[in-house]
Amino acid sequence: MFSVPSLRIACLNRAGLNPPRLLRNRLPVPNAPTGNSSCVSTCCHKKKGTWHGNINFRGLGKERGLFYCNNAVFSLRSCSTTEVKLNCWKCKQLLVETPPFFCNSCQTIQPPEERTSYFKIMDCDYTFTLDTQKLQTRYLQLQRSLHPDNFSQKSVKELEYSESQSALVNKAYKTLLKPLSRGLYMLELEGMHLDEGTDSEADPDFLLELMEINEALAEAQTPEEANRIGQDTKGKLADLIVQIDAALHKGELHAARTLLTKMKYYANIEEKVKEKLSEFM
Ligand SMILES: [Zn+2]
Repeated sequence: MFSVPSLRIACLNRAGLNPPRLLRNRLPVPNAPTGNSSCVSTCCHKKKGTWHGNINFRGLGKERGLFYCNNAVFSLRSCSTTEVKLNCWKCKQLLVETPPFFCNSCQTIQPPEERTSYFKIMDCDYTFTLDTQKLQTRYLQLQRSLHPDNFSQKSVKELEYSESQSALVNKAYKTLLKPLSRGLYMLELEGMHLDEGTDSEADPDFLLELMEINEALAEAQTPEEANRIGQDTKGKLADLIVQIDAALHKGELHAARTLLTKMKYYANIEEKVKEKLSEFM
């Protein structure tokens, strides 16, 4: 664990060790630059946050650097944090894009940067209520340009890069598309996992409510009855999205986790409603 309090940096490994308690209530800017890159500029955030300065990430080795900012609500896009210089593996020119998919000079595909956050890969704001339309557009655009078919006439290395870049983009897209997996991913970036002892925290009233919904669904005799349960569940999921977003904005990670657990159960009911409706067909 690496921590420089004045800069509010916590460094987590890939296994997602928990951040220090003091930093728990702060959302990270995921995936600060690491590895063989050199830091060249300072943090923005002069108004909202408190961390600034030149940091050399070489010192962090292979660990994943996470930045914590005093202000829990921010967008990764508006906070450009630290710029990093990466060079094209082929022509050695500086890469302009972040993350760099292609070299601007020789147009060659670049290797995937596995540590880059999915939000950054998909060029989305680091927020629970992300714009799924924008996500979709970005996905299609990336998949078109990175598709291995485009590289069949290129070198083996370039073909491999296109395959691994496409796979990474697929994974990022799928994770961010659904609110449940998106929320879980955001907690994971914080070093928190949903399956860690959440059932014991489950509220008995909530469990009772679930039982009643499940019973009602099992006993539903008509598609209308099943649909009504489906609509109720949709409404509850919509409420949860608002609550989870608020909890994450406030940095209340435990609350967010509890709400995500509920979301998991309601999402499950939604699936059961679909199954039930197919029985009536
Ligand atoms: Zn190049």
